[in-house]
Amino acid sequence: MTDRPPYRLPRNVLPQHYALVLSPDLGRASFDGEAAIELQVTETTGEIVLNATELEISEVRLAQDGGKILSASVSYLPEEEQASIRPSEPIEAGNWTLHLRFSGKLNDLLRGFYRSKFKGEGSDESWIAATQFEATDARRAFPCWDEPDFKATFGITIVADEGLTVLSNAREISSEAVAGGKRRVRFADTIKMSTYLVAMVIGPFELTSPIDVDGVPLRIISVPGRGALTGLAEAAAAHSLSFLRNYFGMPYPADKLDHIGVPDFASGAMENLGLVTYRETALLVGEESSQVERQRVVSTIAHETAHMWFGDLVTMRWWEGIWLNEAFATFMELLTTDAFEPRWQIWTTFGIDRAAALSTDSLRSSRAIEYPVGRPEEAEDMFDVITYDKGGSVLRMIERHLGDDTFRRGLNLYLDKHRYGNTITTDLWDALEVASGQPVRATMGTWVNQPGHPVVSVELANGGTDLQLSQRRFLLDGGSDDGASWVVPVSLRYQTSDGSVFHQQLLLEGASTTVNLKEKPAWVLVNEGAWGVYRVRYSDDLRKSLLRALGQLDDRERLSLAADTWSAAVAGLAPVENALELWSALGSERDPDVWWALSGALGLLELVAGEQELPLLRKLVRNLAGGTFAGVGWAPTDGAENTPRQARLRARLVTLLGTLGADEEVRTEARRLFADAEAGGAPLPPDLATALAHVVAAGGGSTDWDMLYFKYKNAATPQDEVRYLHALSEFTEARLLSRSIELAFSDEVRSQDAPYLLAGILASREGCVLAWEAVEQHWDEMLKLWPPNTIHRMLDSLPSLVSAGDDAVSRAFAWLDEHPLARGERKVAQSRERLRVNVAFRQRVGGRLASLLAAAS
Ligand SMILES: [Zn+2]
Repeated sequence: MTDRPPYRLPRNVLPQHYALVLSPDLGRASFDGEAAIELQVTETTGEIVLNATELEISEVRLAQDGGKILSASVSYLPEEEQASIRPSEPIEAGNWTLHLRFSGKLNDLLRGFYRSKFKGEGSDESWIAATQFEATDARRAFPCWDEPDFKATFGITIVADEGLTVLSNAREISSEAVAGGKRRVRFADTIKMSTYLVAMVIGPFELTSPIDVDGVPLRIISVPGRGALTGLAEAAAAHSLSFLRNYFGMPYPADKLDHIGVPDFASGAMENLGLVTYRETALLVGEESSQVERQRVVSTIAHETAHMWFGDLVTMRWWEGIWLNEAFATFMELLTTDAFEPRWQIWTTFGIDRAAALSTDSLRSSRAIEYPVGRPEEAEDMFDVITYDKGGSVLRMIERHLGDDTFRRGLNLYLDKHRYGNTITTDLWDALEVASGQPVRATMGTWVNQPGHPVVSVELANGGTDLQLSQRRFLLDGGSDDGASWVVPVSLRYQTSDGSVFHQQLLLEGASTTVNLKEKPAWVLVNEGAWGVYRVRYSDDLRKSLLRALGQLDDRERLSLAADTWSAAVAGLAPVENALELWSALGSERDPDVWWALSGALGLLELVAGEQELPLLRKLVRNLAGGTFAGVGWAPTDGAENTPRQARLRARLVTLLGTLGADEEVRTEARRLFADAEAGGAPLPPDLATALAHVVAAGGGSTDWDMLYFKYKNAATPQDEVRYLHALSEFTEARLLSRSIELAFSDEVRSQDAPYLLAGILASREGCVLAWEAVEQHWDEMLKLWPPNTIHRMLDSLPSLVSAGDDAVSRAFAWLDEHPLARGERKVAQSRERLRVNVAFRQRVGGRLASLLAAAS
C-alpha cells in the first residue's frame, strides 16, 4: 500500500491528546497504566498501529466521538516495537478515543521507565522511578505514536505511595489521598509536544522553594541530603531562562521549570519539557568545587534550557535532523555560559570540543552531520561529537560569517514560524536567507550533507604578494577523497613590513583561489579566530614565519594551530618534527586549553613509545611544562594573576608533570598535600583535587589504592565520587589495575559510572591489555547490566591498544568482528579506524622516536 518502512508508523491515525494514569510500584519494580488517547482518524481503517514494547496490554476499546463503542484485539510486532489494534469493525474517519489498560516493568537499564537506587544519610536504600525516553523509549512506558512529529498534548496523572514526591512536565493541579496508602496527583495539560519529551519522576526528594523568573516558577530538586549543593544550579538556571527568553524573543513554552538530579542516569541530562533530568554531577555541586566542575553544571543547564525552545517547542521531523536540536543547544549553551561568567572564556575551551570533533571527522568512518536514520537503534549513533560539536562549530562559523545580529534575527524568524511544529534543516537555512539575503542553503549544504572537512593549504605566490589557497578533504589515514569540496568562509590576518596588520574575508569555493595582499607579509594567519571548521596547512616558509609570531595569535588560534600541526603529523602529511618545533616555540605557554592539545599529543607518543624511549619522553614533558609551572606555582602568590583559567592551567600542568612526566618533585608535593588534608590540615584546593588524586595514583601503591577507594565510598559530593573513582584508573601496577577492573564489575559502582572507569584503564599504556581482557571476559555481563548507550562509549578507548603490539590489535579486531553491537556500531567502527591510524603512526615514527625525542629535549 505504501513504501513505509516496517518500523515507521502509518499516518492515517493521528494522536491529539493523551490522558495517562500511571501507577508505579517501586518495591516490586512494576507499573500499571491506563490511557485514553484522542485520535484523529483520516480515512476508514481496520487497524491502528502504534508503538509498544515490553508492555502487556490487557484491555482495549475504541469510542467514537458521540457515537459507538467498539471492542478490539491486540497483537504485537516485537521486531518493530509495535502493537497492532484491530477493532471489531473498521473505524471511519473522524474523532475517536482509544482506551487502553497496560502494565510493564520498571527496568534497571536507565531507559524507558526505570528504577534508580540511592542511600540516604545513614538510612536504608531508597528507590526512585524515573523516565528517559529519548530517542525511542517512551514506548516502554505507555503505548504511543513514538515518532517526533506525532505531536500531541499530554494530561498526566500519577498514583504513588503517600509521602513520595511526584513530578511530571507540567504543574500539579490536584492531589488526593486514595486507597492503599497512595496519593493520586494530576498535572496540567502540556503544550503539543513529542513523546520523547514526556517525563515522570517519583521518589523521596528535597525541593528548593520556587523562585520566579519572568513569571515562571523554577526549582532545583535533589535526593534528600543534597539540598546544600543546589546554589549554583539555581543561579545558572535563572540566568539561562531569562537570557534565552531574551535572545529568542519568545516566552518560555511551559508553565514551570524543574531541574532534578537522578542518582542513576545514562547520559548527561535530558531536556524533558518543564522537568529536566540530570546526572548528579551535572547539576549538584558544592561551593568548594573546581572551575571545571562548576562550568559543567552551568553549561549543562544552559544547554538543556536552550532545548525548551530548540527541540521542545520546535522539533526535528525525524531523527536525522537531531543535529538541529543538539548543535543549536550546544551553540546556545556556549553563548549563555559566556554571559554567565565571561572569565571562563568558554569559547576558547570549546576549541577542545571542536578539535575532538574534527579528529573524529578526519576518519573515513565519519558521517555527514545530517545523516539518514532508519531503524530506531540507528538514532543512537546520532548522539556523538559530529552532531553536538561539529554541528555547534558549523553554526558558530555561519554566525560569525553572517554577523550575530543577522543570525539571531534568522533564528527568531525560524522559531516563530515553526512553534509547536516540526522542521527539516532547510527550514532553518531559509530563515537565515531571509534574514541575511545571502545564499545560506548553498554554503551550509556543503558542511551538513557530506562527511569530513577540508584542510586549506596556504602558500605565497607571485613573488610573495599573492596568497594561494587550496582545499582538499583532510583524512587521518593520509589519503584523499577527490569528490569532496566545501564552500569555506575564510578569515585571514597578516602583518606587513611596517608592522601594520590587515584582515581579509573571502569564500573559498572550488579547488583553489588567489588572494592579493598589500605586500609580501611578515606572517599570515589563516582561520582568524579559529571559527572556521577546517584545518590549515602552511608552506614551510609561512609555517616558520608564524612560529616567530606566536605572540600575536590569540588562545584559540594557538590551540587550533597546535591541533592542526599534530593531526598533520599523525596523518603522515607533515613531519613530526614540525609539531616538536611548535611545542618548543610555544615556550612558556600560559593557556590551559593549548596545554590540553599538547597533552593529547604527548599521550599518543606515550602509547607508541618503547620501554627505552619512555624516559626520554618523560624528560621532554618535564622540559616543556616545567618552565611554565615554575612561573605558575602551586598556589597563587599575592599580586599575581589569579583567574579561574589560571587555576585550570595549574591543574593541567600538575597532571601532566605528575603523571606522564613522572616528576618526582610534583609527586612528592602532591602526596604531602594529600596527607596533610587527610590529617585534618588544609583541605585540597578544589581546582587541584582531581589532578592531585591522579598524580598520587600514578606513582602510588596499594595503600594509596585503599585510600582513594575509601574516599570514593565516602564521598560527600557527586564530584568527589567521580573524582576518586576515576583516579583508580591511573595506577600503573598490574595488581592494582586488576583491583580497579574488578571494582568496575562489582555492585559497588553504579552502571552509569562503571563503563567510564573501565574506559580510563583501557586508555592507558599500563592498563590497556588487562582492560581488554576484561572486556572480552565480561562482554555478556556488560551487555546485560550496563546502559546500552555506554558500551560503545567505553570502546572510545580502544585506540590505546596500539601500545599492546600488532598481535594484540589483530586479536581485538577479530574478536570485535564476532561481537557486533546492536547500538553504536558506527562509533565502534570509528574507534577501530583510529586504532589503525595509531598503528600506522607507530610504524612510521616508532623507529625514529628515540632520536626525535633526544633532539627535542
Ligand atoms: Zn542536548
